[in-house]
Amino acid sequence: MASPAVKNVNIKDKVKSGKNVSAVNLGALAGLTDYEIFHDKAKISVHGKVFIKDLLGATGSEISINKMPSGGKVPFSHAHKANEEIFIFIKGKGEMAIDDEIFPVEEGSCLRLAPDARRCLRNNGQEDLYFIVVQTKADSLGDYTVDDGYKVEQNIDW
Ligand code: ZN
Repeated sequence: MASPAVKNVNIKDKVKSGKNVSAVNLGALAGLTDYEIFHDKAKISVHGKVFIKDLLGATGSEISINKMPSGGKVPFSHAHKANEEIFIFIKGKGEMAIDDEIFPVEEGSCLRLAPDARRCLRNNGQEDLYFIVVQTKADSLGDYTVDDGYKVEQNIDW
């Protein structure tokens, strides 16, 4: 597999790992614009976007944590080959262009986009727009929620 086309530029020293856990603290969401990724295909740097799959060693999903300032927009539309994306809007207001429709989005909006949906996003609100994008292979999920979980014994000292 080719090396990732998008790399976090300035974040590696924040990762902690244990036997069954990897953790990173990105700090306050307002500070997300301190982080930068380099998009190798588009040859652009983007501030306010952090991909956490490689940071955490995740194996089933790519997730980005995002802050887009008022007036900001994704500089190009894109689609995906095999992955669906779930957009979860945490704060602020914006618009998503999906195929030939415009969807207003705001705190609490959750959208699932099929891989071939053509998509773009802008912040046309007055505040910063915060959102999380979860990218997973479409039709890959087997059991989920309580069907995948099971009860275990654990001595917790708190
Ligand atoms: Zn995407």
